[in-house]
Amino acid sequence: MCLPSEIVADLAGLVGSAHVRDAADLAGRDPGVDPRNFGAGLLVRPADTGEVAAVLAYCNARRIGVVPQGGRTGLAGGAESRPGELVLSLERLDRIETLDPWSRTAVAGAGVTLAALATAAAAHGLSPGIDLGARASATLGGLVSTNAGGNGAFRHGTMRTRVLGLEAVLASGAVLDALGRVRKRNEGLAVEQLLIGAEGTLGVVTRVALELVAADRRAATALVAVEDAARAVELVRRVRAAGSLEALALEFLSGNHARAACRALGARELEPIAAAPYLVLVEVAGVDEAATAEALVELLATASAAGIVGEALVAQHEGQRQTMWRLREDWAIDRERPGGLWYDVSVPLDGLAGYLERCREQLATHDASLDVVVIGHLGDGNLHVTVNAERPISERYEEIAPIVADGLAALGGSFSAEHGIGLEKRATLARLGDPTRLALMRAIKGLLDPNGILNPGKVLTDALAGARGRRDG
Ligand SMILES: Cc1cc2nc3c(=O)[nH]c(=O)nc-3n(C[C@H](O)[C@H](O)[C@H](O)COP(=O)(O)OP(=O)(O)OC[C@H]3O[C@@H](n4cnc5c(N)ncnc54)[C@H](O)[C@@H]3O)c2cc1C
Repeated sequence: MCLPSEIVADLAGLVGSAHVRDAADLAGRDPGVDPRNFGAGLLVRPADTGEVAAVLAYCNARRIGVVPQGGRTGLAGGAESRPGELVLSLERLDRIETLDPWSRTAVAGAGVTLAALATAAAAHGLSPGIDLGARASATLGGLVSTNAGGNGAFRHGTMRTRVLGLEAVLASGAVLDALGRVRKRNEGLAVEQLLIGAEGTLGVVTRVALELVAADRRAATALVAVEDAARAVELVRRVRAAGSLEALALEFLSGNHARAACRALGARELEPIAAAPYLVLVEVAGVDEAATAEALVELLATASAAGIVGEALVAQHEGQRQTMWRLREDWAIDRERPGGLWYDVSVPLDGLAGYLERCREQLATHDASLDVVVIGHLGDGNLHVTVNAERPISERYEEIAPIVADGLAALGGSFSAEHGIGLEKRATLARLGDPTRLALMRAIKGLLDPNGILNPGKVLTDALAGARGRRDG
């Protein structure tokens, strides 16, 4: 059941009736990555922090569950909503308020997309220091709330590193103003940091202050075939150790991902490399373009002579470079074999090859009909492991999760790298999370959102008791 009409009327009074979308309205709109995102059948689009505060205070008083949404590109089910809840879209908070090239800082609304900020920063030779495939839609609020990583995190950190300050509205409607633009700010406990990676369960991020970085001087990009993950890691070590080269991207692809993408993109010239078990996309910068390309070719030749790499192609022009990136970012394999299971893990580089080998072996022993597809950000050991089969296996997430997730902590890794817990990894968190840490998470949730209205049922299995509309944990 969607919320009653008198509540819808009250909400219209708070944000304006033009900014309330009902189920009929939402039916014609794109719900984003997860078809369940519009499940609530009711969405409001506040214009500013004041309206966000008014909506939250109203919902808190009536115990209405509120699901914050940005670009709806999240991959862990964190933006899923259900009947009886309200979707709070931050899309109208889309203004870049300041962008100061001198201090290299920007202050922007939570609804600003990563691409919009990147374009504005590029005009000053700067970059947000974070980049990911969903750049056109992912918003600053969503990126902060999932503590997103992406392909540059091994250089500039995840969102937690990029955020200098933020403004958020708590469940009560109180505004937390911590929007400083300085790196050094020791004013007691940095409680605003709790909002980073909280996936909308502790407050709604409304404005963000970010530190920008110098834009990349891109010089050379290569797609490189390797026989196994150990060789891929060795290639990463060599690129990072090369004094004359600065590694900009070190992306990992299994051959089956690359072959599916080649088929979808018609990228014939990349097919010989995609025939390999694994590929690494290497992008580097250096002092000048020609010398950098030369140094990369030399590095690859030495690695080839040492049996580290196989076939390799250095992009000859921008179009070819873009095709290489599309090969990495296209999820053709998911279209060919829908209903696969996505796991998002990180592993220290010294244990990565062993982990992947063990994972593959155990999956094959468990069920020989399962296939493994891997893409990832190799620079920081982040692997997106997709397990699929000829037919959809969506309902088997919990069955497979222990094979992929258990044992990572002992390696110093994580079962949840950059996409967040959302709905998807709640059971794994409950099973593998440190009990003291989980108890603190519950206590903090209870303190900041005593009625459990904020993103009910996400992250913690048992932190939604008071929220209306939520039927299960
Ligand atoms: C093609 C593709 C590639 C991707 N690549 C990467 C990658 O390389 N690295 C990576 O880290 N992620 C990646 N992602 C997923 C990534 O988490 C999201 O792209 C992004 O961080 C979410 O932003 P969003 O605005 O779409 O948030 P949504 O999907 O709208 O929301 C995500 C979560 O944040 C919460 N939320 C959203 N806005 C707010 C707010 N203002 N205040 C409080 N809570 C809020 C939601 O409730 C939900 O829990 C990728 C996704 C896609 C589709």
